[in-house]
Amino acid sequence: MNRHSILVAALLLALSLTACGRQAPGTGATDSPKAQTFRWKLVTTWPKNYPGLGTAPENFARMVERMSDGRLHIKVFGAGQLVPALEVFDAVSQGTAEMGHSSAYYWKGKIPASPFFTSVPFGLNVQEMNGWLHYGGGLELWREAYAPFNLIPFAAGNTGVQMGGWFNREINSLADLKGLKMRIPGIGGEVITRAGGEAVNIAGGEVYTAMQTHVIDATEWVGPYNDLAFGFYQIARYYYYPGWHEPGPSLELIVNKQAFDQLPADLQAMVEVAARAVNQDMLDEYTARNNQALVELVQKHGVQVREFPADVITSLHSITLQVLQELADSDELAKRVYESQQAFEKQAEAYHEISEAAYYRIRKE
Ligand code: CA
Repeated sequence: MNRHSILVAALLLALSLTACGRQAPGTGATDSPKAQTFRWKLVTTWPKNYPGLGTAPENFARMVERMSDGRLHIKVFGAGQLVPALEVFDAVSQGTAEMGHSSAYYWKGKIPASPFFTSVPFGLNVQEMNGWLHYGGGLELWREAYAPFNLIPFAAGNTGVQMGGWFNREINSLADLKGLKMRIPGIGGEVITRAGGEAVNIAGGEVYTAMQTHVIDATEWVGPYNDLAFGFYQIARYYYYPGWHEPGPSLELIVNKQAFDQLPADLQAMVEVAARAVNQDMLDEYTARNNQALVELVQKHGVQVREFPADVITSLHSITLQVLQELADSDELAKRVYESQQAFEKQAEAYHEISEAAYYRIRKE
């Protein structure tokens, strides 16, 4: 390389650096927030890379990495890797991690209204939940509920209607729920307790052992695709439907407020858009894989699929309405959230009766 070509090469290098905005320190360019790289931690309630629930935060992190060209790098931690599964809320609130992926109803001891932001029994389905959150005032209420904890929530995944759960005995009447120890969080757990059972809240990764050692007699988890991965068919024979307790559960992405405020506007927008994309993507994956997994559970593993008897469902429904009313009466925010959700459900249901429900009926005929 002669002197002239060295000069040309140096000039081209300088031009390309300028074009990329990566001037040497002291030029002022490094002060621009767009030149700054952020390295964040995202803690989750799910085992690392667990199908569906655990892959959602991984997809989210990858999307943000690509959209931001590496300016916002997010490292995802499975349950117990940085903090235990049910300490995600506190960890993000205190800034131990900048982000978390979990479910709002795990925090009902801190925020009485929180179950409404995941799912309440006999409540909104997935379409209605997404409609209420994004166009019905739900997300504003959720942000109000989390603001005192220094957190900004986003919807980030929804499983659709879940299964009723795994039982080591048949449920033929309400009497069969008496003394039943079941892993079931949120309002559904309260309803099972009032129906004579005993609700236990334990993280997913510990459920298998609890069933196997007879610490619990039953567990709800998600649906066929997720439940197959946990191997619940090895420890319980009866698989009940429908998931009356979680008809459209929304998962959450929570972000530490100070951390979010430090991001430039374009990275904030990427977080928001990636959360919305993951929210839809999870439902798409469950829709594609749930029935394949159900066929495998029945044909390969001999699982007995059962529908809850109608009178059991009727009783659970009436207990649910009592529990929700008591919750609303006990907490001002819970009351506003419940009323907002009820009003939304009423109007959405009126149209769904002549759209979704009517369509299912004609397709079967
Ligand atoms: Ca569940």
